[in-house]
Amino acid sequence: MTTVVVGAGIIGTAIAHDLQKRGRQVVLVDRDAPGRGASFGNMASIAVTEFMPSSRPSVWKQIPGWMLDPEGPVRVRPSYMPKLVPWFLRFIAASRPTRLEELEAQGAALCSRALDDTLDLLRETGLSDQISEEGCLSLYADEGEFKADREHIEILERFGFPHEVIGRQAIKALEPELSDRIGMAVLFPQNRSMKDPYKLVLALAERFVALGGRIETGEVAGFVRGEGIREVVLKDGRKLAASEVVICAGAYSAKLAKELGEPIPLETERGYHTQIMAPGITMKHSIIWPAKAFMVTPTAGGIRVGGTVEMAGLDAAPDYGRAKVTVKRAKEALPALRCEEFTEWMGHRPALPDTVPILSASAKTKGLFYATGHGHLGLTYAATTARLMGELITGAKPAVDLHPYRVNRF
Ligand SMILES: Cc1cc2nc3c(=O)[nH]c(=O)nc-3n(C[C@H](O)[C@H](O)[C@H](O)COP(=O)(O)OP(=O)(O)OC[C@H]3O[C@@H](n4cnc5c(N)ncnc54)[C@H](O)[C@@H]3O)c2cc1C
Repeated sequence: MTTVVVGAGIIGTAIAHDLQKRGRQVVLVDRDAPGRGASFGNMASIAVTEFMPSSRPSVWKQIPGWMLDPEGPVRVRPSYMPKLVPWFLRFIAASRPTRLEELEAQGAALCSRALDDTLDLLRETGLSDQISEEGCLSLYADEGEFKADREHIEILERFGFPHEVIGRQAIKALEPELSDRIGMAVLFPQNRSMKDPYKLVLALAERFVALGGRIETGEVAGFVRGEGIREVVLKDGRKLAASEVVICAGAYSAKLAKELGEPIPLETERGYHTQIMAPGITMKHSIIWPAKAFMVTPTAGGIRVGGTVEMAGLDAAPDYGRAKVTVKRAKEALPALRCEEFTEWMGHRPALPDTVPILSASAKTKGLFYATGHGHLGLTYAATTARLMGELITGAKPAVDLHPYRVNRF
């Protein structure tokens, strides 16, 4: 009985590892080496407080204004707009008040266990030293900015996520490099960060192989199905026999789901990072500044600055101007930040219009499963996703009711 996991990002690798541990014989297949997709360069944050649906009216009502601002946090490339219409209509449909309440609860159900599941996975794999002890600071210049983010804090209060509002002196004591412009902050102690999210994928892949799992390099081009799933067909003609297949191809999962007759409305929300090797400052906490829409994370290789959403599809060339805008904004919070030795990167967040991922058995094909659409929270959700998918696939009762995350909900 072979389970083929398609896609060796953080999601596929964590699932492959979990299933191998549960006694399945697993083949993890990727067209590239493990961890070279979105999981390579994300902002490294176990961001358990960031599950709010992006379809909240308070967010999407700002989109027209952002679109007119070339440095705004969301950009849609004009040539891509027509292709985005069906996704955007579903995004608007996900903004009904009753639907928003459901989506908040569904995000909270995953996030409320995400840190514990991550810590368990790290402990079990000998990687406990890869996560920070410190949390994340959400920054506000003044009371007005804080009030604008009040809805976020209220949702967290409703679901019992710990946080602490602190003033200028306490902020300075925690992060002396922060500008005096920052008048208030909220400390989220559970939002830890990984030293290097790419190395986490590599370490999990290594452990998966040590447990007897196999990694194949090849592009998945199709599938052979009979009564259930039978084979995974690679572009070079090779075929991998499979009694179970799990689709975890990140933003590319939509192509495979369509091939399997189960289309999903998955888009790419492209994001950028700048990894600054010699930033001239040190930090302990990650920071976000909601009004300026950027994040800074201390990582093993210096300081990582990132954020922004760009809707331009899977094939358009990166626009590194987006990365430069986030660095400019970060310097407003961290005046001594230098950006001299750096690399820039763009990655594809797999984004569903209602923000919550698909964690599901196929509604059409026996033995076929999907774990995709983790959007801005793939690293955060990885350990929880792996556990829940491991339970689902091996017939155990998943620790969270997975009905809301089904593939045919759209
Ligand atoms: C700028 C940025 C910042 C982010 N910050 C955070 C953060 O701080 N915290 C957080 O939790 N999340 C964050 N995210 C989101 C997170 O990175 C993603 O949700 C996560 O990496 C998705 O993982 P994945 O395994 O689904 O996809 P990927 O990592 O993209 O992996 C998919 C894999 O599938 C393979 N593949 C695709 N098609 C095929 C095919 N046909 N055949 C074979 N292989 C195929 C690809 O090669 C790739 O390796 C961020 C994302 C970005 C872009």
